[in-house]
Amino acid sequence: MSGIYIHIPFCKQACNYCDFHFSTSMKKKDEMVLAIAKEIRLRKNEGQNKDELSKVETIYFGGGTPSVLSLDEINFLIETVYTNYAVVDNPEITLEANPDDLSEERIIAFSKSKINRLSIGVQSFFEDDLKMMNRAHNSEEAIKCLAVATKYFDNISLDLIYGVPGMTNDKWQQNIETALSFGIPHISSYALTVEPKTALKKLIEIGQVAEPSDVVAQEHFMILVDTLEKNNFIHYELSNFGKENYFSKNNSSYWLGNKYIGVGPSAHSYDGKSRSWNIANNGLYLKSIQNDALPSEAEILSTADRYNEYVMTGLRTIWGVSLKRIESEFGTVYFEYIHKQAHKYLTDELLVVEDDILKPTKKGKFLTDGIASDLFYLDSND
Ligand code: SF4
Repeated sequence: MSGIYIHIPFCKQACNYCDFHFSTSMKKKDEMVLAIAKEIRLRKNEGQNKDELSKVETIYFGGGTPSVLSLDEINFLIETVYTNYAVVDNPEITLEANPDDLSEERIIAFSKSKINRLSIGVQSFFEDDLKMMNRAHNSEEAIKCLAVATKYFDNISLDLIYGVPGMTNDKWQQNIETALSFGIPHISSYALTVEPKTALKKLIEIGQVAEPSDVVAQEHFMILVDTLEKNNFIHYELSNFGKENYFSKNNSSYWLGNKYIGVGPSAHSYDGKSRSWNIANNGLYLKSIQNDALPSEAEILSTADRYNEYVMTGLRTIWGVSLKRIESEFGTVYFEYIHKQAHKYLTDELLVVEDDILKPTKKGKFLTDGIASDLFYLDSND
């Protein structure tokens, strides 16, 4: 078992575009921390055996906004993991944090804890973008927190959003350059997407915000890839760029299909055969854990599910899709199917096969998700 993901389901305010699970009421925060610790205890036998490989290699605080927790609460959860699981020496321990929670005093305190990686939700250095997204921080806070965080942490990731309505290519380039000026070794960057039931969707419907354009998003993606590659970042996953030795161990492990346990409301887990997910409701989660019951549902992955996941993550990552592995793990039917489906993308030079590894070309990268879904095997194909 390679990692433990801890979902902290609280945010100070709701960003307009977000459809993750969180509550803006902190009333149940104390209770929630105790419940998450209890879930860790209840699940302490999962994925454990005497094998070195079963040790926890990464602990990841995601959310929501984990930085709304006090340092004591974070330390308590980390210690709960150590008490209930075997943990490797020097695990990667990441805290997702927002700039408005990262005062100098807190950064120093975090740096003295077991946390050794910060993932900072900057999104943009421009005030108008941050306002449009309804972020809780401003541009000055983003800049100040990075100036301090880089003094105390060397392993920092920063999130940036592109394809924001009104964001010119120049402005996007400036965002990337500002991020680079702090010497950050890892950047995660996603296109703004309009999810159903979000405030952004409503603002677009009533004409207050323009619809994000795919063409602009593609231009921004190209600028991102070119600029970061020129600055020695390795584009190791479609939305993730890291300097050598700074890839996210936690996320790489998901992408490589390793097992993980997710605790907290809405968190997902994977044990190599089935995927399970906790209920995305803070009240129901608390009630269930307080009654010693795990509030989760699970599904056993079919061969087609596992093939589809491998194709999606393989095409999105630098590791690509091994055609030999498709044949040995999923069988001849899948091997022939992927060849048939990939044919037109190979002809159009959107995909390429190198040393038996299928991967997108530079031209195909931005279209990866669409191409992958076209290579998916549906159970109805049987
Ligand atoms: S801080 Fe993160 S999780 Fe919270 S609303 Fe904003 S994007 Fe969503």
